Amino acid sequence: MVDVLVIGGGNAALCAALTAREAGATVQLLEAAPRAWRGGNSMHTRNLRCMHDAPQDVLAEAYPEEEFWQDLRKVTGGRTDEALARLVIRASATCRPWMRRHGVHFQPPLSGTLQLARTNAFFLGGGKALVNAYYRSAGALGVDVQYETPVDRLETEGGRFIAAGSGARRFEARACVVASGGFESNRDWLRQAWGQADGEWVADRFLIRGTRYNQGVLLRQLIEAGADAVGDATQAHMVAVDARAPLYDGGICTRIDCVSLGIVVNVHARRFADEGEDFWPKRYALWGRLVAQQPRQAAYSIIDAKAAGRFMPPVFPGAEADTLPALARQLGLDESALVQTVAAYNAACRGGRFDHAVLDDCATADLQPPKSHWARPLDTPPYRGYALAPGVTFTYLGLKVDARASVHFAGRPSPNLFAAGEIMAGNVLGQGYTAGVGMSIGTAFGRIAGAMAARAATQPVREVADARA
Ligand SMILES: Cc1cc2nc3c(=O)[nH]c(=O)nc-3n(C[C@H](O)[C@H](O)[C@H](O)COP(=O)(O)OP(=O)(O)OC[C@H]3O[C@@H](n4cnc5c(N)ncnc54)[C@H](O)[C@@H]3O)c2cc1C
Repeated sequence: MVDVLVIGGGNAALCAALTAREAGATVQLLEAAPRAWRGGNSMHTRNLRCMHDAPQDVLAEAYPEEEFWQDLRKVTGGRTDEALARLVIRASATCRPWMRRHGVHFQPPLSGTLQLARTNAFFLGGGKALVNAYYRSAGALGVDVQYETPVDRLETEGGRFIAAGSGARRFEARACVVASGGFESNRDWLRQAWGQADGEWVADRFLIRGTRYNQGVLLRQLIEAGADAVGDATQAHMVAVDARAPLYDGGICTRIDCVSLGIVVNVHARRFADEGEDFWPKRYALWGRLVAQQPRQAAYSIIDAKAAGRFMPPVFPGAEADTLPALARQLGLDESALVQTVAAYNAACRGGRFDHAVLDDCATADLQPPKSHWARPLDTPPYRGYALAPGVTFTYLGLKVDARASVHFAGRPSPNLFAAGEIMAGNVLGQGYTAGVGMSIGTAFGRIAGAMAARAATQPVREVADARA
C-alpha cells in the first residue's frame, strides 16, 4: 500500500505529489487523461499572482500582502475565507524558489498583459512547460504516475479515506489528496446549475476553455458522502471567448481582450454593462457571466481602428468593415440598432486623456450603463467586431477545507483526506477573480495537502488524535 494517493494530474496534484514525496512518503498519482493530455487546466495557464515587498527577479515594484488581500476582497465581494486567503497570499511570496527547484522557469511579462508585471510571475513556456517540468521531477523522485485512470469512486468511513477505485482497479493508501478540478467540463451539471431561459438550457451555449476531464465526479461523490461544501454551483471563472472557439481546450488564444477598448452589445445591439469599470485583469473573468445573462447567451465586442495593437490579438480574425452598418450585417445584428447604440455612446464620451495603463478620465456622461474609463468615440474605420460566447474556465463550488487542507465532514476535519486546487478554490473565491490567483491557490494548497497527507500517512495515530482534538 502506498502512503499517499494523489487524484488528479494538474498543478495542485503535482505540487501535492512532489511535496509528499519530498517528505519521505511513497506516492502514487492517478490522472484521468492520457499522457498527451495530462495536466488539466493547468497546462493552459501562463502565470501566478505573487505577493512581494520589493522588486524580485521577474516581478516589478512591490505587491504587499495587504494590497493582494484588498484586491481579493474586492473582486469576491467579501465572499472569501480571510484566513485561508491570507495563507495563499503569504505562500505566494515564497513558492517560486521551490517551483524553480522542480524545473519551472519564469520570464518577464508578455506585452499586452496590462498591469501584470507588478503582480504576476509568468512561466517560461506557459503552463504546459510547468506541468511537464513537474512530471519530470515527479518521475525522477519516484512518484508512480498512472495515466488514463479516472477515479470513479472513493471509499471513506466516517470521514477517513480507505481506497479509490477506477473501473476494476482499487487503490488503497494511508492518505489521499483529491486534486481533480472543478465540474466545469460536466455539461449536464452546468445545465442543472444554470437552468433554462426562454425555454432553452442556458449552459448549452457555454464553451469550456480547458480540459474535458474535470467532470466533478469526486466532488459530487464526496458531497453526497457527507463532505461539507462551499460555494454556489453557478459561480465560476467565466470569460467572454470567441463564439467560434472549440467546445474544450480552446485555451487562452480564444479570449477576447478588447472589451475595455470599445463597447459590447447583445443580440439586440444594446449595451448592457460598463466595459471600463476597472482594469481588465480584475474584470475579464466576469464577462463570461455577463454574456451568459444576455438573450441567447451571446454578445459582440465592437472596436474601431484606435484599438488596434493595444490588446492580445485573438486567434480568429474579427469581422471587419469600413462602416458600422456593414459591420452589423457581417455580425448578423440589426443595422440601425447598432448605429443608434454607437451614436448614443459616442455622444456621451466626455473626452479626457486616454491612458489604458491607468484608470483614466475618459468616461461617459448620462449614459446607461456608463463606461467609466477608456471611453473614446468609435469613429475611426475600419471597425471590428467579435461574436462572444461564455467560456467557462473553472467552477467554484467545492469542498470545505481548513488551513491544513483537510476535507471536512459535518464540521470535522478528515484525518487523512485532503483537497487542493479547483476542487477547494471556492473557499477563497466565492465569486469574482483576479488574474493568476487560481495557480496561487493550487500551489499553496497543493503543497500544504501534500505535506499533511505525508504526515498523516507516516504518523497516522497522532494525526487522528490531532484531528479529533
Ligand atoms: C485557458 C485557461 C487559462 C488559465 N490561465 C491561468 C493563469 O494564467 N493563471 C492562473 O492562476 N490560473 C489560470 N487558469 C486557471 C487554472 O488553470 C486553475 O486555477 C488551476 O490550473 C487549477 O489547478 P488544478 O490542479 O486544481 O486543476 P487542473 O489543472 O484542471 O487539474 C485537474 C486534474 O484532475 C484530473 N481529473 C479530473 N477528474 C479526475 C478523476 N475522477 N480521476 C483522476 N483524475 C481526474 C484532470 O485530468 C486534471 O489532470 C486558467 C485556466 C484555463 C482553462
